[in-house]
Amino acid sequence: MPTSASLNTLTNHQIRLASRPVGLPTRANWSATTEPVQPPAAGGVLVKTLALSLDPAMRGWMNEGKSYIPPVGIGEVMRAGGVGVVVASENPLFAVGDHVSGSLGVQEYMLVPGDQLKRNGLFKIDLRLGGLTEWLNVLGMPGMTGYFGLMDVGLPQVGETLVVSGAAGAVGQTVGQMAKIKGCRVIGIAGGAAKCDWVVNTLGFDTCIDYKAGPDAVRDGLKQHCPDGVDIYFDNVGGDILDQVLARLARGARIIICGAISQYNNTTPVQGPKNYLSLLVNRARMQGIVVFDYADRYHQAVAEMAGYLKDGRMHSKEDVVHGLQTFPEALLKLFAGENFGKLVLQVAES
Ligand code: NAP
Repeated sequence: MPTSASLNTLTNHQIRLASRPVGLPTRANWSATTEPVQPPAAGGVLVKTLALSLDPAMRGWMNEGKSYIPPVGIGEVMRAGGVGVVVASENPLFAVGDHVSGSLGVQEYMLVPGDQLKRNGLFKIDLRLGGLTEWLNVLGMPGMTGYFGLMDVGLPQVGETLVVSGAAGAVGQTVGQMAKIKGCRVIGIAGGAAKCDWVVNTLGFDTCIDYKAGPDAVRDGLKQHCPDGVDIYFDNVGGDILDQVLARLARGARIIICGAISQYNNTTPVQGPKNYLSLLVNRARMQGIVVFDYADRYHQAVAEMAGYLKDGRMHSKEDVVHGLQTFPEALLKLFAGENFGKLVLQVAES
């Protein structure tokens, strides 16, 4: 660990938003900057970033305009959740060497002033419950999204049929595994044979539809695997896949609108669901969720799922890429389906 005197010699490399993208972000939308590392003032904590969570939501945060969270300002360090280690602390709740999770930003060091600790969401993580990258996945924000979206909005019942898109991704893997544990029949939708094989053979989903297998793959797969309709659809992708599932709802179905990654880089308006009247016919409902609304209950989900990770009922797969400077290209993997599991950017080893 650096001493407070040696902190002054450290440099913080950062990635900032330089301009707002149209369509897929490019290198030109980012700038790399450096700053000297500052020691914390009374009440504050200095965190060294170890790994960052790369999330589809980052694309939305790059846009101007109102959302569930303000956009990242031009010139600001890009927002990112991450895990790190406390390297200097002027706060009795955090000791040097503690591992923490919080909004660290795409940078090597995050200085969190004492009055910003809550806003930053900084909390200690217990590495006995799960490894560092698992705290960005099943035990982290995507896992919380999958858990509460499924349990609070999906309301799974034994024997029900659940379909989840983005099945091999961060949120999708939690949803499908939790739904199996709760007694559902689980059908994943993912891009490519390798991802489909993994969710069935490793995660224990009942089956998986490869939406890239052909133009009718989703329609035909849902017809084959959901003869009595879909009771719960956990939607991570929106677009055509949402429409195909809407066409196969069971009576009383619940649809969790978690995300719509197929639409995030559109240069035309978002494609809305054409088949929404299926909600009427089937007395079904569709509800959006924002994970941060469940922050007060994260500890419950962490305790439950850490138990499943320990006893082997759940797996947590991360796809780790290395180096802060690779951030602009690494982020794009999400939109090309090149991540296999939760996409994590390793910034430092320790
Ligand atoms: P992820 O699934 O780990 O990664 C994104 C995956 O999306 C890609 O690997 C790719 O998988 C798939 N994808 C990309 N473009 C697609 C397209 N055009 N059509 C279909 N699939 C496509 O990402 P994640 O972090 O778990 O996030 C999943 C969704 O949850 C996103 O929509 C995200 O915005 C949302 N989310 C919402 C909340 C919330 O609070 N509401 C919180 C976290 C995440 P394939 O190879 O299978 O195509």
